[in-house]
Amino acid sequence: MAQDRRGIWYEATFFDGVTPVDQAATFRVEDDTTRIVIHVGDASLNWPLSDLRAPAHRADEAPLVLNCGYKDARLVVRDPDGQAVLERLAHRLRKAPPVASRLRYLAWGTAAIASVFLSYFVLLPRMSAALTLALPQETADELAENALSMLREYYASDDGEPARICSTPAGDAALVKLMDRLIGDIELPHGFNATVIDASPMNAMGQPGGQMTLMNGIFRIAETPEQLAGALAHELGHLYHEHATTRTLRRSASTGILELTMGEFTGGEVVAGLSQRLIFAEYSRENERIADEFAREVLVREGIPLSAMSELFAVLMMFETERTGVAKYLETHPGFGERIAATNMATGMKPAAAAEPLLTEDEWSALRSICE
Ligand SMILES: [Zn+2]
Repeated sequence: MAQDRRGIWYEATFFDGVTPVDQAATFRVEDDTTRIVIHVGDASLNWPLSDLRAPAHRADEAPLVLNCGYKDARLVVRDPDGQAVLERLAHRLRKAPPVASRLRYLAWGTAAIASVFLSYFVLLPRMSAALTLALPQETADELAENALSMLREYYASDDGEPARICSTPAGDAALVKLMDRLIGDIELPHGFNATVIDASPMNAMGQPGGQMTLMNGIFRIAETPEQLAGALAHELGHLYHEHATTRTLRRSASTGILELTMGEFTGGEVVAGLSQRLIFAEYSRENERIADEFAREVLVREGIPLSAMSELFAVLMMFETERTGVAKYLETHPGFGERIAATNMATGMKPAAAAEPLLTEDEWSALRSICE
């Protein structure tokens, strides 16, 4: 028996109900006399006084062996003072095990799981769709800026500097010319901004808030402006349908829910992990299909042969076998085989007119060397 500012601690022995090892423990009665607090090693357990049972115990015997309702763990109390305090405060020591309370816990647990389920799969998707539509331009711009800086941080150089934004007058002009041609008179929900960063993945990403980020690596595989246009038109499809924004809002909303349900138990790490996954989260197959369909329509409208798109897919697929860090495009864009097939099937969609070249040779080489 010992006393500190929180009360009197009684000595006991603890069995966890799993391993046949006894552990030294101490316990005290919480001030509000609703529960006992047990310290075992570094762990701290709360057992409600009303759930404490000593089924085999007779008043004149020592020790007092307690369990707590549905738990297999046992607390063995030899200290007469500790026994006395429990006999006085745990009114149901001699009653039948608290089956009802076990059911209560189960019911509560089921309800909690059901509510998380409902929030995550039913409410959030609807909520985030509604949020996306009502997003003010300011918020969209903020999202876009955030998305770009997260990606730059992610591809930081060895000395920790965020990936450089590549910009040259001729390169910028070529990118604007190409994007203007692809966008045409399509109205994108949150405007549009294209940025090239100095990062090795062969990737382009439609990001939240109308941000499209091209990684320099993509110029290593796109051999013609038309091939690049296939990839960029696909990303435009994601932007047009607000896939990235919706996904980000949904994820950040569900991160909030996760925080609420997991409490302090996980906290910061989970959130940090999730925000990183926000960058590379996969779109659903359905979203990919929709973006591809959008891209095909854009290419056909501009008289660009669809073969340009499947050529690029085919090159990307070759890299899939390597599965190095540079194949990020594949991680975020699953199911290439399927998509090449769909593109080939769509060859009935003939370009309406002979294609006017998207860029001149000079413009194309200015764009490809924008990071040099
Ligand atoms: Zn995609």
